[in-house]
Amino acid sequence: MIHYKSKAEIELMRANSLLVCDTLAVVAAAIKPGVTTLQLDKIAETFIKDNQATASFKGYHGFPFACCISVNDAVVHGFPTNAELVSGDVISVDVGVYKNGFHGDSAYTFGIGEIGEDIKKLMRVTKESLYKGIEKATIGNRTGDIAYAIQEYTEKLHGYGVVRDLVGHGLGRSLHEEPQVPNFGKRGTGAKLKEGLVIAIEPMINLGTKDVYYDKDGWTIRTADGRVAAHYEHDVCIQKGKADILSSVTAMEAAENANVELFSDY
Ligand code: MG
Ligand code: MG
Repeated sequence: MIHYKSKAEIELMRANSLLVCDTLAVVAAAIKPGVTTLQLDKIAETFIKDNQATASFKGYHGFPFACCISVNDAVVHGFPTNAELVSGDVISVDVGVYKNGFHGDSAYTFGIGEIGEDIKKLMRVTKESLYKGIEKATIGNRTGDIAYAIQEYTEKLHGYGVVRDLVGHGLGRSLHEEPQVPNFGKRGTGAKLKEGLVIAIEPMINLGTKDVYYDKDGWTIRTADGRVAAHYEHDVCIQKGKADILSSVTAMEAAENANVELFSDY
């Protein structure tokens, strides 16, 4: 069943989406070589609690952490670990918060220090593909129109692998609601987009093959060929005219710009 949100509910969700983005920015400010992803997870969890919210992912189907932190060949659902970050790492951070009865959910990929031009391009194209999808998130379109736009841009135009095993989703009182929002598919298929629908659009794009596998931790999803993946996610509300993007990259881009020595410009 698809749940449509009232104007008041959308504003509660916007606040949560922006809290997620502020959390991502706080994490970004702590990223540096030598820091562990477990330390970043603790920083995020503390910030979320300090803002009278709870971490949506912690305990979700048994997930033990506040954040999914996926480094290099990890695509999504990465377990924070004791491994220290090094220059050249690509780190995708996915955070959810729950407050006032609703969830926010957003993800962002950072490049640390010197990374290859091919990887910078993957990050740029993945981020751009998110907006290609959002352009299609209009009343009367279908989820397949979003999917097609993302796949055309990333896979057909740039030759990247679009992960098939994981998809975007409706968002609201539950972290994952109907409808599913894939990053691949046919135009004119899938659920029809109506006013008040909130969806998380989240391209998960691999530099090489689309194929992935589960790490032995049972959660972390890695590329089958060991090459890098990127992941950006916005919460978007369908409304008259253009979609309303509830989350914002402003805080994360500000964090990147505040440390141009550290974060790769892509
Ligand atoms: Mg997410
Ligand atoms: Mg999501």
